[in-house]
Amino acid sequence: MPLIPFGKFRCPSCGSYVQRFSMINSLRRVAEKKCNSCGVKISSDLGLGRYALLLLYAHTVLAVTIVPLVLGMAGRKWGVTAASVAVFVALVWPTATMLHASNVTKRNREERETKG
Ligand SMILES: [Zn+2]
Repeated sequence: MPLIPFGKFRCPSCGSYVQRFSMINSLRRVAEKKCNSCGVKISSDLGLGRYALLLLYAHTVLAVTIVPLVLGMAGRKWGVTAASVAVFVALVWPTATMLHASNVTKRNREERETKG
């Protein structure tokens, strides 16, 4: 049995695997994506509690990685700068996508229309 790739999820409508949410999308409270296979709009609403925890976590990681980032930029040490960004992405993105992946629902049409 193949392992489910990290942060990926199944489409609630057709059951096929969908790509994970993007970095920017997964940092939103409500992440949205279209199914690659059937085209259904899938969304994940973390709710205020879990979203607050995610933001707190992201800000904590940011607080730790911002120091080498700024020092790297000031000293023109681009390797240090790139490493700081890589550490931030590596710590925050998987957490955010996994939170969203455990929470996906099919978005129905009425909901989309009333939102507009
Ligand atoms: Zn689908």
